[in-house]
Amino acid sequence: MPKVAIIGAGISGLAAAIELKRNGISPVVFEEKNKVGPAVSFANVSFKFLFRPICDQIKYLKDTYNLEIKPISDINLLKIQGPNKRFTVSSHLGYSFLRGKDAHSIESHLAAQLAYPIEYDSNVKHEDLLKEFDYLLVADGSGAWSKKLTIWQSTLRAGYEVQLFLDVLTPMKLKCG
Ligand SMILES: Cc1cc2nc3c(=O)[nH]c(=O)nc-3n(C[C@H](O)[C@H](O)[C@H](O)COP(=O)(O)OP(=O)(O)OC[C@H]3O[C@@H](n4cnc5c(N)ncnc54)[C@H](O)[C@@H]3O)c2cc1C
Repeated sequence: MPKVAIIGAGISGLAAAIELKRNGISPVVFEEKNKVGPAVSFANVSFKFLFRPICDQIKYLKDTYNLEIKPISDINLLKIQGPNKRFTVSSHLGYSFLRGKDAHSIESHLAAQLAYPIEYDSNVKHEDLLKEFDYLLVADGSGAWSKKLTIWQSTLRAGYEVQLFLDVLTPMKLKCG
């Protein structure tokens, strides 16, 4: 079995660890802090239309990766105000999620699903880990390694503000499924 190390117990590192474990590999996850989650709690707002053609991200993650992500609330109402137009959309538009060290945060949910100890208080260096492990996954939140390896890709186009300005955004475009 290959020896795998993961730097960082953020969302990316934890999701990767869970997926590896599901495939029979138990990576060692190193985290420099003493608990998962960013120091300051905050909420992520996640609109379904941003992830088309996947309209229900929670169901998709459960069905595809057996990941349980619990939102703190549904988003059922959105009011948009543009220079020429204003409208209200009443529909199930997405979810809000908690981030941070709270027991209900995404990070805490993922750590619970990993269900084995994380190496906390470990500020590790990739060159040290490469001596000991066969594979290394850098999920330190910086993106520096992806850029260095030229595998960085921007996948989200922020076109909605422009659409609103040009007056072509309609309530229908904000619905999904
Ligand atoms: C206020 C705020 C709002 C945000 N809203 C959104 C949003 O709505 N949608 C969205 O997609 N993103 C949002 N983000 C960005 C979001 O934080 C990132 O998308 C997400 O956290 C990335 O997860 P990650 O696991 O890649 O990195 P991180 O969450 O940064 O996790 C990296 C982990 O690696 C650890 N680490 C770093 N270096 C080392 C090392 N050398 N050794 C050991 N451990 C190390 C860190 O302590 C950290 O726990 C927001 C950020 C903030 C601050």
